Parts: sequence; C-alpha cells; structure tokens
Amino acid sequence: MTALQEITVGHLYPSYLNIYADRGNIAVLAARAAWRGVELDVRTIGPNEPTPPGVDLFYVGGGQDREQALIAPDLASRGPALAEAIAGGATALAVCGGYQLLGRFYRDRGGEELPGAGVFPLHTVAGERRMIGDVLLECELEPGARQTLAGFENHAGRTILAAGAEPLGRVVAGFGNDSESGYEGCRVDRAIGTYLHGPLLPRNPWLADWLLAQALAHRTGEAPLLDPLPDDLEADAHAVAAARARSRGGRF
Ligand code: GLN
Repeated sequence: MTALQEITVGHLYPSYLNIYADRGNIAVLAARAAWRGVELDVRTIGPNEPTPPGVDLFYVGGGQDREQALIAPDLASRGPALAEAIAGGATALAVCGGYQLLGRFYRDRGGEELPGAGVFPLHTVAGERRMIGDVLLECELEPGARQTLAGFENHAGRTILAAGAEPLGRVVAGFGNDSESGYEGCRVDRAIGTYLHGPLLPRNPWLADWLLAQALAHRTGEAPLLDPLPDDLEADAHAVAAARARSRGGRF
C-alpha cells in the first residue's frame, strides 16, 4: 500500500463512555493504520454535537449506568443516522455500555429504561449479579476464517438478541451476553458490538485489522489486504488472556 490514505473515525462520547481504558482501542487502530501508511482522522462527538459527514468507523466505549443515562437520549436521537451510515457500509466498534445503548433499550439496575439507538436488534436488562472476569470467544467474521477473541467483561446487563440476530461469537469461556445463550456480542453488516474490554484491540490485532480494512472498504469501495505486522507481543498478550479465561472465566 503506497498512497497515504485516510480513515475518518467518529468517537462517540469519549468523556462519558471510557472505562477499562476503552480509549486504548483508538490508539491501537491509529498505530496499526499508520504502520500501513493510513492516517486516522479522529473526530470526537459529544452530546448535541453534529455527527461529521463521511465517518468510516464509529467507536463508542463502555460506562457505568450513571454515564449511560446522561448520554442515552442524545445517542438514541442519532439512531436513524447511525443505522443509515452502517447500512451504507460504515464500520463500528461498540463496547459494553456503548454496545447496550446501540440496541433497542437498556433497563438499568434502578429499573429505569434508557432509550437505545436501535442499530443492533437486541435489548438489555440489568440483573442483580455482575458478570465479571476474563472471556474467550470463537468468531468467524469472514467465512472459514475462525479466530479467537480474548478480553475482560464487567456488566450487570443481560443482553437478549432478537430472533435471527447474528452474535459476534460463541463463548468458549466467560459469561457473554447473558451467561445462558452461549453467545457474545452482536454483528450487523460491518458493525460490531461486544462486552469485551481490556482494552480489546491490543490483544486481538486481527480484529483491529478487520475494522481498518472495513473502514477502508467504506472509503474506497474495496477491502484492502493489509500488510502483516510482527504481532509477537500481541500474540503473547492474547495467549495469557485466553489462558486466564479458560482457567476462571464465567464463574459468579
Ligand atoms: N453499566 C452497564 C452494565 O453494568 C455497562 C457496564 C460497562 O460498560 N462495563 O451492564
């Protein structure tokens, strides 16, 4: 890849939804893009601020119920535009609290129902016991390309996918969406929602590259084959997280 290309990132509510260093996902995307001669133009989007035109990759992190309640109406009002952008080929990564609020609604521990953006066909209801610990998933975002995702979850919300909705992956170890279905996350076209914090991308570089390729496909019409990078450190971090998940994930 020679010519300097650019990806526009719309980072939703960074000062409200950013726990477990979720912001680190943006740093990983920026570094891995730069190593391939691609520049990430990150635009932050706060409450009442316009969504910039031409966003290739939307990102939203996780947060406590209190912060979610502060931004939920604003995010819900962007729902139709976000759904249209994703139907038009934009990519997205939504983590935990952000993932929940891209669904239809989130009923928090106080019983208050927070409106969702309706991008993902799911809803979430907070339960009594938090689901905390390391998680390992098996995913197949591209036919025949099975990969594992390792991360950390901490949520009270139980997420129920609508009939026919596509999960992000199968739970190998951990709680996942609801500790019962055996699935985690959700995928709609190039948009991914997940409970996995960590941050997620440093120990799962294949997903970072998948998101970058999807964002470039939105920009150029074609998903490029990104040059491989020497991911030894990332592979070690993944292996450590996966082993921790296998040894103790998914236990209350
Ligand atoms: N507040 C939500 C819950 O408890 C999301 C938490 C998070 O983003 N880690 O389920």
